[in-house]
Amino acid sequence: AQPAPLLEVSGLVAGYGQGEVLHAVDLAVPAGSVVAVVGANGAGKSTLLRVLSGLLPAQAGTVRFDGDDLATARVEDRIRRGIVHVPEGRHAVAELTVDENLRLGGLWRGDRRELRADVDAAYDLFPALAARRTSHGHSLSGGERQMLAIARALVAHPRLLLLDEPSLGLAPRIVAEILGTLAHLRAERGLAILLVEQNVRSALSVADTGVVLNLGSVVAARPSAALLDDEQLRHAYLGF
Ligand code: ATP
Repeated sequence: AQPAPLLEVSGLVAGYGQGEVLHAVDLAVPAGSVVAVVGANGAGKSTLLRVLSGLLPAQAGTVRFDGDDLATARVEDRIRRGIVHVPEGRHAVAELTVDENLRLGGLWRGDRRELRADVDAAYDLFPALAARRTSHGHSLSGGERQMLAIARALVAHPRLLLLDEPSLGLAPRIVAEILGTLAHLRAERGLAILLVEQNVRSALSVADTGVVLNLGSVVAARPSAALLDDEQLRHAYLGF
């Protein structure tokens, strides 16, 4: 039998105020796998990640993570359990240095030596950040800020990383570097990733599975290669 997926979302309904954005979404992320959620602007991709991290409450449905339903759990409890969100926008605290920003990612953990080791491990993954460790957030390039946002999330020891639009506005070389690092993390640490992207081709190039979201509903969930091969689906929902 197949092991239960690390994350299993079923019948998830959510929105803002009276407006429903996600309509009974079902989705699974197996341990150690990369799942890309793709679809047009406004499909509800960012909303989905906000509900999974607990920033936005679910109106209905279950969010099973490692066996437990976390649909109503608090954000900090989900982080402790291993669900860590990197929101769109690459937020770095402008007044803090790169090193201070990274240490923020593990602030809630008690052991300082362990935290230091985790921050150093993040520098090993992103050497560009190591070169900038005493620079302030406001002086970083877009690519450096994206790396910092991901690295800070890694310091929190995620088992599932929720990653919103990491490639937005970045040069292809930087995007390739970031995606390469994510592929490495998945291979070396078994990190599972739920990746939201406008850049469908680059997302599907690293993902095992692609989930197509349209107007808040899942219209397809298939191996990435199968999605790319389906010309009709591509034309209808992905615009190429
Ligand atoms: P994008 O890539 O443009 O962010 P998306 O697929 O991530 O698209 P969402 O940002 O999740 O889509 O938006 C889905 C719907 O929810 C849209 O109709 C949007 O207008 C609405 N929405 C998003 N955020 C809010 C909010 N804070 N308050 C009210 N409505 C919102």
